[in-house]
Amino acid sequence: MNLLTVDVEEVNHANFPLLVSYPFPSTLEEGVERFLEILESYKVKATFFVLGEVALSHPELVKKISQAGHEVASHGMTHRLVYEMDEKTFRDEVCLSRKILEDISGQEVVGYRAPSWSITKRSLWALKILEEEGFLYDSSIFPFSNFLYGMEDVYPYPHRQGGLWEFPPSTLPFFPKRIPIGGGFYFRLLPLNLLEFGLKFLKAMNKPFLLYLHSWELAKINFPLPYAPFHRLILSWGLPSVKRKISFLLEKYNFSSIKEFLEKWPE
Ligand SMILES: [Zn+2]
Repeated sequence: MNLLTVDVEEVNHANFPLLVSYPFPSTLEEGVERFLEILESYKVKATFFVLGEVALSHPELVKKISQAGHEVASHGMTHRLVYEMDEKTFRDEVCLSRKILEDISGQEVVGYRAPSWSITKRSLWALKILEEEGFLYDSSIFPFSNFLYGMEDVYPYPHRQGGLWEFPPSTLPFFPKRIPIGGGFYFRLLPLNLLEFGLKFLKAMNKPFLLYLHSWELAKINFPLPYAPFHRLILSWGLPSVKRKISFLLEKYNFSSIKEFLEKWPE
């Protein structure tokens, strides 16, 4: 079994500095609808990590996700980086987003993913807060470092730490480090046969492939992205390949939500 997760947010929630202010058109409805259609056509259930402020502005989308049988989980309130928050602000954001998502979806919210994988060595205190607040799992630690996130010494497969499960996005060993294959820019950059090799490699180790995508990756981005060229590349590279790659993987392999996976996980 593999895991499919979608972060529900706008393209400009990315934690990159804007070169000029720009009135970004919303991609939320189109992106979420495209994901719901594709998941429905393959009869797959996924986990949708929804931002609290998105739930407040688009409650009907959260209801639709939940009514289609998918898991609704928290992506925080505002897409601020966890390592730039203090502990009280983090706790308040997480609890408020969960309350909003539970009220709208009617589901119990048990999972959390930090904006831009921002639980790192600097913000490991956040895991204790999630556990204290009764979350069942976290999916916020990236086993590969770059300028924004990462913790290379985390165990790179689903595991339990105290009372909390951790679900890192998929990476492959590439001595002495790891290469990311599990989603976003890396998923758009890498050829499908390498992604499939990665999935099979993990399967041979009896580990799930954890795929993460953003709702806007299936929407049309036909407007300027006023970011530095490097950031613009990260946001836009390979967007036309996303639908084809997801369809290929959903056609050939089993995927589920994280909640569904945990219900079946052998203790
Ligand atoms: Zn995000």
